[in-house]
Amino acid sequence: MAEKQVVIMIRQFLRVTLFICLVYTGPAAAEWYQRSEAIMGTRVHAEIWHEEAAQGEAALDAVMAEMHRVDALMSPYKAESELSRLNNNAFEHPFVVSEEMFRLLQKSQRISLMTEGAFDITYASAGRFYDYRNAGRPQDKQLSEAVMAIDYRHVIFDPENSAISFALQAVSIDLGGIAKGYAVDRCIEILMALGIDQAMVSAGGDSRIIGDHRGKPWSVGIKDPRNPDAMVAVLPLENTALSTSGDYERFFIEDGVRYHHIINPETGRSSSASRSVTIIGNEATFTDALSTSVFVMGLEKGLDLINRLPGIDAIIINNDGKLHFSDDLLQLAH
Ligand code: AMP
Ligand code: MG
Repeated sequence: MAEKQVVIMIRQFLRVTLFICLVYTGPAAAEWYQRSEAIMGTRVHAEIWHEEAAQGEAALDAVMAEMHRVDALMSPYKAESELSRLNNNAFEHPFVVSEEMFRLLQKSQRISLMTEGAFDITYASAGRFYDYRNAGRPQDKQLSEAVMAIDYRHVIFDPENSAISFALQAVSIDLGGIAKGYAVDRCIEILMALGIDQAMVSAGGDSRIIGDHRGKPWSVGIKDPRNPDAMVAVLPLENTALSTSGDYERFFIEDGVRYHHIINPETGRSSSASRSVTIIGNEATFTDALSTSVFVMGLEKGLDLINRLPGIDAIIINNDGKLHFSDDLLQLAH
């Protein structure tokens, strides 16, 4: 080989080596690891700060696996989910459920009591007749029959046998108002057990944050219900849970009426009390259920409840489009 050619090869080798050295900065650096997936009919998103790439990715795997697990248990769209089997059997005979399902149903019932029935998982007795994608809704006769089956007291608990039964055949339950928050809490527990101290997990409108964002709070936006590309407020948050329920998430409009997914249990129809309700608190299970409840309760009753609950705050966009805050947030602003 000519001497000149060898020199060129050595130069090339050095250039490539230098390039690799510049790109490869040693074993994984501490950074944000993040992932999004479509689960539970919504966008699930997680961001985790970790020192090690492999462990950061493994933590994201664990979050997504947990979301899939809760979905498989609680989806009303999966015929084999525990929820579907419960709906299909609990009128015929007491149906034995897992401890996890029993506890979440009990929690739902406690929230029904606390919200004077605004939160009611039996809303689905009528709610199942709506199809927001295809503008489908129940006929008046169908609706008036279904409304009679909406009442959380139709769900009967047998704690000794971990069994549930329905008082009427037409009762159907759905955990859509609490399951996403529950799944987020479960994921946060998993991350904390892994020793992670900065993370954010969200499922649609339900989020929870561990720690802060590298010394600063996270910025979480509240959408304008009539222009969801715009924000009406941005909140600096750390170590907290936050849920938003809005009438713009799943809806169709027919003859000027907005049919959306938050149902007033008294009528079986979409609630027109609010446009959007955001709840801030410690646990996403609770903020999720409360955002749905306060939406239905409306401004006055809703704020009255929130102002009585320690550590819980609310931001409500009323049905006239005005922004309202719970007492603690108002004080912060002054
Ligand atoms: P969210 O996603 O928290 O806004 O809650 C809306 C979801 O909760 C709906 O898609 C339904 O699955 C469910 N839902 C609707 N109305 C009620 C209600 N009154 N009580 C409990 N869950 C409800
Ligand atoms: Mg909710």
